[in-house]
Amino acid sequence: MALIVQKFGGTSVANPEKIKNVAQKVLQCCAKGNQMVVVLSAMAGETNRFVDLAQQMQAIPDPREMDVILSSGEQATIALFAMAIKEAGNDAISLLGDQVKIRTDKMHTRARIQSVDTDLIRKHLDDGKIITVAGFQGVTEDDDITTLGRGGSDTTAVALAAALQADLCEIYTDVEGVYTTDPNICSEARKINRISYDEMLELASLGAKVLDIRSVGFAKRYKVPLHVRSTFIDNEGTWVVEEDKKMESKPVSGIAYNKSEARITISKVQDKPGIASKIFTPISEKGIVVDMIIQNTRAGDLTDMTFTVPRTDYEQALQIVEQVANDIGAAGVSGSKNIAKVSIVGLGMRNHAGIATTMFKVLAEEGINIQMISTSEIKISCVIDKKYTELAVRTLHEAFGLDKEHPAITS
Ligand code: ADP
Ligand code: ASP
Ligand code: MG
Repeated sequence: MALIVQKFGGTSVANPEKIKNVAQKVLQCCAKGNQMVVVLSAMAGETNRFVDLAQQMQAIPDPREMDVILSSGEQATIALFAMAIKEAGNDAISLLGDQVKIRTDKMHTRARIQSVDTDLIRKHLDDGKIITVAGFQGVTEDDDITTLGRGGSDTTAVALAAALQADLCEIYTDVEGVYTTDPNICSEARKINRISYDEMLELASLGAKVLDIRSVGFAKRYKVPLHVRSTFIDNEGTWVVEEDKKMESKPVSGIAYNKSEARITISKVQDKPGIASKIFTPISEKGIVVDMIIQNTRAGDLTDMTFTVPRTDYEQALQIVEQVANDIGAAGVSGSKNIAKVSIVGLGMRNHAGIATTMFKVLAEEGINIQMISTSEIKISCVIDKKYTELAVRTLHEAFGLDKEHPAITS
């Protein structure tokens, strides 16, 4: 008898029929003698609806109250799912994050899981029940409800699988696995059969929302066998695994894009020790994660500083930076939400030269201007005008041969 954690995303539980379909899938797996823990997202669109409602109340919604409303979407789906299982003549129980004691820090709307208590789940499993747990939510030591950041149900599932030492964690979604790029914007994208934890970490952090980055981090740390697959088509999906030599033979194995960031520039700041810390400390104190940072050298002792933040934090970050600019005597602050980050990722970049040059050349040939660049051992990212995102992704996909069969990726 295996213990399996399955997670179904918002599109998989978008309406009552789909929830019943998921219940049937789970029952089939259960009928093979497996113990089942099922993590569910809110129905597709619900979390966005809550964000919208909250913003009608407060321009920057109170984070604690935001989590109270955001977490309610998952509460509804697990109850409906448990009802569907009971209607089919089996036994199930739905559990919220605080009932399972998924302890998190206090960083509302982007909380991190600190510990998971498995006692209650084990007790109900021993009683022969199917367990369904609300994704995306946890509880602080002060009993406040938290949420884990958008896409966080993946993280709930992998964290539970790790804590329960489950035999398998399956992430069911609306595509057949992890592809060479988002199959919804590039019809040439190919399914990757096996991808290393590190490549998946990069892709997830760079915008490939098929897996939440923290779920991949947990999977890597606790060696959780992780399989991403389709809810609607019964094919083998993508296994996220330890890297092997074969994976390095291809310089680029995936392309990601992120349209959810915004750029802020603070101009003519003094080029002297302590300035960067004055700018970024108050931003990080609000839990805002700064991504790319560029400092230009200007004539004299003044410089410009440009960086990106999540779009959802843009207004708040702008407010903070305007205050700091005033305090340190900078000339001004400007920003844009019309940006996108396009990234290429591959273990093989470590030992293939000229990859960055190819990327820059391909973008230039399409007339796409690069506003910012950042690199790491296995990725190169460029910030461009948002309207060119799809064009950049498709052109790079072709230029790096990802539309072709390659043993390192598709077998
Ligand atoms: P769920 O609601 O099931 O969690 P998500 O919408 O969060 O699903 O993630 C699945 C989506 O991720 C796909 O529909 C696809 O558009 C997008 N995506 C982005 N990059 C990739 C990729 N490299 N491979 C597969 N899907 C991707
Ligand atoms: N419902 C949350 C979201 O839409 C969490 C998730 O689906 O993973 O982001
Ligand atoms: Mg998701």
